[in-house]
Amino acid sequence: MSQYLLAIDQGTTSTRALVFEITAEGQWRTVGTHQIELPQHFPHNGWVEHDAEDIWQATLAVCRQAVVNAGIGFKQVMAIGITNQRETTVVWDKKTQQVLGKAIVWQDRRTAARCEALRQQGLEKQLQQKTGLLLDPYFSATKIEWMLDQYDADRRRAHAGELAFGTIDSFLVWRLSQGQCHITDATNASRTALFNLTTQQWDDDLLTLFNIPRAMLPTVVDSSGELAFAVIDGHKIPITAILGDQQAALVGQACFTTGMAKSTYGTGCFLMINAGTQLPHSQHRLLSTLAYRLKGQPTFALEGSIFMAGATMQWLRDGLGVLQDASQSEALAATIDKLQSVYLVPAFTGLGAPYWDANARGAILGLTRDTSRAAIVAAGLQSVCYQTLDLINAMRADGVMLTTALRVDGGMAKNNWMVQFLADLLQVPVERPSSVETTILGVAYFAALGCGIFDSLSQIAQQWALADNFLPSLTAEQVAQAYAGWQQAVARITHHGSY
Ligand code: ADP
Repeated sequence: MSQYLLAIDQGTTSTRALVFEITAEGQWRTVGTHQIELPQHFPHNGWVEHDAEDIWQATLAVCRQAVVNAGIGFKQVMAIGITNQRETTVVWDKKTQQVLGKAIVWQDRRTAARCEALRQQGLEKQLQQKTGLLLDPYFSATKIEWMLDQYDADRRRAHAGELAFGTIDSFLVWRLSQGQCHITDATNASRTALFNLTTQQWDDDLLTLFNIPRAMLPTVVDSSGELAFAVIDGHKIPITAILGDQQAALVGQACFTTGMAKSTYGTGCFLMINAGTQLPHSQHRLLSTLAYRLKGQPTFALEGSIFMAGATMQWLRDGLGVLQDASQSEALAATIDKLQSVYLVPAFTGLGAPYWDANARGAILGLTRDTSRAAIVAAGLQSVCYQTLDLINAMRADGVMLTTALRVDGGMAKNNWMVQFLADLLQVPVERPSSVETTILGVAYFAALGCGIFDSLSQIAQQWALADNFLPSLTAEQVAQAYAGWQQAVARITHHGSY
């Protein structure tokens, strides 16, 4: 007899559900899926909002339709897994069920001045020590503070436990459980800037700092296990996994041992490396975060991100008009010597880790009379690879070494020329799995672990299948020379460099 799992991926731009069938022989198949785009709201410059009611309605709708498309009923769904856009903040009234205002999305910069003021007070070190994060509007804490200032300025309702905060996972579980369960998993908690990674508890000092009453916070639970019950159309179904989206991709890529890493190349890029059970402290402003928590035992990760990955292709297409479609980049780049000396530094919105220069702006360097559009496109693809090497080097300097291979996914990872150059630069194999749906698959795997279909991480690891393996083909000297050129190019445009 087959078993069925329902996985929900509530992302920034859409909400999706997949039904997985696990056959008696243990084969996994996707049998039903449905997706709904999520409206974005930009009420002011730098503000990004979602309507939490849209998210809830879309979640219910995609679950129902995916189950119909699978040709089954909710009665046959053994368990549910939820993965979600991280940091996005919802506050609601527990009695009336009403959400307060709109959800503040992770990209929203409205609390930038507040973060800067706290940094001026020298508080970043303490925050980093406790939470592994930086003082940045990205994380939930200042978003919650902003909402309370707006809707419950004296904090009376929040102190009385009438208001609840949740990231998207928490809000969805609350609604799915018909208001019975106010929880969040530890990976989502680790993105709030209120969660102490060492104690694995909400941190009283930080709650005081951000003036957030503890009574409004969810209970932090493991990433897998019997976490809550959803009631959908009269059927009670256990929720057995919750993971933030990047953590779910790490699980989907089966990066379960220290030094295993995955890199997701979409609009931006998120690189995460398993750091094991000892909390790493970054000296290079990478984020320390939770990879997952099982039976109370945390596994940590280091995370770095690149602002412009696929977005550089979008700029080459829409801004420069040298591509009609991102996928053309592969054939164009193939006409170029990969040891070319044209460099594109995509600092369109500043540079992130490990440079952290918000004021840097992009540049194309090394142009000669014979530079073609193909060379510039190739340099755009190469910029993503050079930035990945920057992050891998920073991780190594922080004491977490990439072992054996890098596993890639995301829309841009379809580009063979780019992935080959990545392997060349990193000097390790780069592996692309047969299923690039790593995020939703990851949370489905943890749901399977939580309901007893799997009983160990190694069983999940056995599911991972390699499709393409890219082996390094440059010498160490060639790589050193190419990378030196990149570093010089970056030095030209950063704050401390000169034109
Ligand atoms: P997101 O989840 O951020 O929307 P996706 O994982 O869907 O992103 O990837 C889409 C991004 O990948 C786009 O920015 C696009 O420009 C880029 N992309 C897609 N296919 C290719 C390709 N063959 N070569 C280079 N970039 C690509």
